Formats: sequence, structure tokens, C-alpha cells
Amino acid sequence: MAAFAYLDHNATSPLRPAAFESMVEVLRAGGNPSSVHAAGRKARAAVETARRRVAALVGALPVEIVFTSGGTEANNLALSGAGRRRVLVSAVEHDSVLRAVPGAEIVGVDGNGVVDLAGLERALAASGAEPALVSVMLANNETGVLQPIADVVRLARAAGALVHCDAVQAAGKVPVDVHGLGVDYLSLSAHKLGGPTGVGALVVRDGAPFATDRRGGGQESNRRAGTENVAGIAGFGAAAQEAAGCAPDLAGRLAGWRDRIELSLVQIAPRARVFGVDAGRVGNTSCLSMPGVPAETQVMAFDLAGVYIGAGAACSSGKVQRSAVLAAMGVPAEEAATAIRISLGWNTEPADIERLIAAWRDLYIRVAQSDISRAEAA
Ligand code: PLP
Repeated sequence: MAAFAYLDHNATSPLRPAAFESMVEVLRAGGNPSSVHAAGRKARAAVETARRRVAALVGALPVEIVFTSGGTEANNLALSGAGRRRVLVSAVEHDSVLRAVPGAEIVGVDGNGVVDLAGLERALAASGAEPALVSVMLANNETGVLQPIADVVRLARAAGALVHCDAVQAAGKVPVDVHGLGVDYLSLSAHKLGGPTGVGALVVRDGAPFATDRRGGGQESNRRAGTENVAGIAGFGAAAQEAAGCAPDLAGRLAGWRDRIELSLVQIAPRARVFGVDAGRVGNTSCLSMPGVPAETQVMAFDLAGVYIGAGAACSSGKVQRSAVLAAMGVPAEEAATAIRISLGWNTEPADIERLIAAWRDLYIRVAQSDISRAEAA
């Protein structure tokens, strides 16, 4: 049995061996893709192979892929690069969308975290001569809830608006087809699907407006200046190729395990609540509360049991803040403070699931016992 169960794939998914191998090969070879000599041409070939693989993962044309330093930069680029002053974003977007441009208008969500389409339609109707950019994610990072992107696109198009979709937590977990979705911009991040951290891509639909204020060389067809992160991009390409190959199978398997986890955890702790359970969700993610036990306590207890999970929103400071996603869904602050996130991925095994369930049972028994002793002492 492995030393630990890593169930925090939405924070970052372990590097796939194929990604590692391709990165090492590129690092050994060196070369700048803009150089015309053989070493440069080899680096260029690595970038273009990866471009084709990433494009294939989401049904894009290779020319539509702009490599970036990750999902954050892709989101920032889309929201500023579309050139629309009016920007509408859903309330459950990642901070890299919510904070990308000043003055973005927030569209609410329902109790399951699904965007309020009527609210979006009303906001769009107010656009008038100032058509907007709408940004709605495909899958939420905390709950896994899927958004009705086809409906968002239909409403946006009727109002002359452009659409950006943050697919960082969806790609590799559910089939994604950028043209089928009909969006203008789509963000991806390598490390959420088994590639390295610090690399991602923005898909810019052929013909969609795009302007960058980044000055420098003409890399990425003048859309993202700076010498390419060749090794990172190669790793991204290898991970994307593998993810594309196994996405449908993996999704089904993970959803089965996710359901087993939720059933078992709620059986053990009947007051536990699964968030977004009545909406369509990616199969790998479960966000649930254990009332009375702060998320940090749970994360630490799981950690000691060799089970790595997340608390609500993972945050850069290592401190757990109140989840804006759960707040937007109307979850009371006290309950949201007990929410944990379990996220499965490409290397999850049945033993990991059993370990998680056993750790939850142990924790629940300890909590119940301390509740009884407290009641007896009172
Ligand atoms: N969008 C979503 C939905 C995410 O979950 C994340 C990361 O957690 C990002 C964007 C940012 O991606 P990156 O870490 O590559 O900057």
C-alpha cells in the first residue's frame, strides 16, 4: 500500500511519468525555439508537437493555442485581451477571473452553484451599445459543479457579447470541445491534468478579437511575448495527450468512487452535507461539510492519517479563508467553515478511497466521543 493517499488533484495533480520524461528530454536538448539552427529547430518541434496535443484535447486548431504561464495568466489575458470594457462574471469564478479586470459585474448562482441564467440575461439586456464579455467557468474548482455553457453562449450571442470559459478544472476530466461549446476564449492549466505547474494555455477562437499589452518578441504569433517555457510546454503536451486518451474511462471510474465516498461519509456522519449534489458535476470532485469540525482540523487529522485533501478553497497563503463559492451558494458561514474538498485524479486507486473512508470514520468517532465527554462534564 502506498505511504499516503493523494486526494487533492484540484489543487495540483501529480506529474504524469510521460510528462516528466518529455520534460527531461527537452531540458537535456536545450535550444531556443526562435533560433534557426538545429538545436532551435528541435525546441520549436517540441513546442509545436505540444501545441497539437493540447489543441486535440479540447478540439481546437493548433493555431488557436497561446501558451501561457498557467491558468491564471490565461484568464487574465482573456479578460483584458478581449477588449470589452463591460465584463460579466459568475460569482463562483476563480480569483484569477474575479480579480482580472476592475469593475467586473457579478452574476449570481443558485443553491447548487449553477449560474443564474435569468440574471445573466437581464444583465446582458442592459448592455445596449456596450456589448460585454461574459466569463463563466466549465467546472468549479471547489464543488466540481458544471455550468450550462451552451445556454450562456446562446444568451451572450443574442446580446452581441463575447464568451470566455475557464476550463482549467474540466479539461482531462470531462470531454471538452471548444468549438462545440461555441466560446471565444478557453483557459487551460497543465498542472491540473498531470502536467507541470507554471504552464497553461489560452485558446483564442480563430477570428476572435485579441489584443495584448505585453511587449517583447513576437512569440506565440505576437499574442504572448517571451521565450517559451519549452520543457513546461512539452510536459503539458504529453499530459494532455494522455489525458485525452483516457478521459472518458477515467471520468466514469472516478465518478463511481466519488459516489462511494459520498455515500460512505454521509452514512458515517449523517449531518454531513455534499455541496452541489443536485447539479451536474465533474466526477472527480466532492465538497462536503462535517458540521462542528473546522475544515483545518479535518485536513490536519487526514494529513496525520496519510490522506491529503483540501479545505474549501486552497489558497496561496496556506491559510484557509472563507469560501466565496460556498457563500455565493448561500451556505451559512459556520457550515462553510467545516467544508473539505476531496478531489481524485489519474493515479487514484481503490486503496486511496478505503484509506479516506477509514480516516473519516476514525475522525468522526473521536469527534462523537469528545462531544459525549463534553456533554457528560456539563
Ligand atoms: N481557474 C481555476 C478554476 C482554478 O482552479 C485554478 C487553480 O486552482 C486556476 C484557474 C489557476 O490556474 P494556475 O494555477 O495554473 O494559475
